Amino acid sequence: MIKAKRGTKDIFKDEIYSWQWIEDAAKETFQNAGFAEIKTPIFEATELFNRGVGDSTDIINKEMYTFCAPKSDESITLRPENTASVVRAYIEHNMQRMSPPSKFWYFGPMFRYERPQAGRQRQFYQAGVEMFGVKEPLADAEVILCAVDFLDKLGLSNLEVELNSLGCNECKSEYRNSIKEAIRPYLDEMCDDCKVRFEKNPLRILDCKNDECKKVLEKINDVIYKDYICDNCKEHYEKLKSYLDDLNIKYIENKLLVRGLDYYTRTVFEIKSTSLGSQSAVCGGGRYDNLVETLGGMPTPAVGFAMGVERLCALIEKKQAPMLDYYIVSTKPNEAIKLAQKLRKEGKKVEFDLANKKFTKQLEKASKTANCALILDEEEIQGNFYSVKDLKTSEQYRIDNFKELL
Ligand code: ATP
Ligand code: MG
Repeated sequence: MIKAKRGTKDIFKDEIYSWQWIEDAAKETFQNAGFAEIKTPIFEATELFNRGVGDSTDIINKEMYTFCAPKSDESITLRPENTASVVRAYIEHNMQRMSPPSKFWYFGPMFRYERPQAGRQRQFYQAGVEMFGVKEPLADAEVILCAVDFLDKLGLSNLEVELNSLGCNECKSEYRNSIKEAIRPYLDEMCDDCKVRFEKNPLRILDCKNDECKKVLEKINDVIYKDYICDNCKEHYEKLKSYLDDLNIKYIENKLLVRGLDYYTRTVFEIKSTSLGSQSAVCGGGRYDNLVETLGGMPTPAVGFAMGVERLCALIEKKQAPMLDYYIVSTKPNEAIKLAQKLRKEGKKVEFDLANKKFTKQLEKASKTANCALILDEEEIQGNFYSVKDLKTSEQYRIDNFKELL
């Protein structure tokens, strides 16, 4: 028997209703805030992610599904995230010429070759937004507000917003150097991953989960907590915090929050759930003012986030299939199908029996799936009427001359 690959799953039965509900809530929240949906391709030129995600990241180094199409030597990759793709689309369709901001939201599958475990899959879904063209911290506040509103709409509590500013290119590189120098004497004590990070992207060492590495970080606390960002970046960060205060959005400042992707500048944030296990981050985002230029566009400030839908699904209250308006109970399927056609045209949700079930079995099914049972059997057809039974109140009424309706 062929089974679904490890790290992938079929989403169906009861679970699909939670998914649909999350997608509907995403659409409503983001569209109501003026974001337009964008659907980008599932695969892109590998080069896009190599340049856009950053070659010191785990994604680029070990997590990408990269292959060549048959009879082609062009390398393509299943998207591991969607920001690079949205940026590519933004540049390719000349959206830089439009008056800012350009605001997009998306919902779709991403692919990363990771070790599957609870809350971590190889094909997983993200819902996210990207906003282009505004450098002011108001854009960061608006994006965080959208994330919080969305989680609110899902009815989620026990969430914490963590916030940090990495600074611009200049202050980020100064900080990177001082962290590197502080860590150098302790390098032997650190994990193999951090030894590589030390050369390629020392800031990533700050969020290493290894206990030995955490001990080293404690020794260099004074360097980590040094106030290093430049005056402009500081002003940007302070303004963002005051907007969040005005909006009553609570946050925790976390100097160790650096995020996995290379492209972030200034604001980074994460939203974590205190009721999930070790995979507690439901949302990650931040500002990426250099990415559009890195991918060949004009310098354009941008900010966005991505949420993990599987993790949201694990947190929300379970949803059920929406109730039908009518279940037609009838042993005359050729009449039932015509009535179903008519009522569906009127916008009603209607189902009827296709499997020759007994009358009582059909009634049972009706009571589980519909608000009303619509009874159309021998007697009704002879008398040119049908009966409707409200399955909650047990009230019953009849509709005459139904044949003329068809
Ligand atoms: P993590 O630290 O959990 O690996 P990340 O930093 O790799 O997260 P991002 O790339 O910022 O995550 O993606 C945003 C969100 O997408 C995460 O907060 C998480 O909810 C979800 N996510 C990321 N990778 C996976 C995965 N392999 N399976 C399921 N959800 C994921
Ligand atoms: Mg990850």
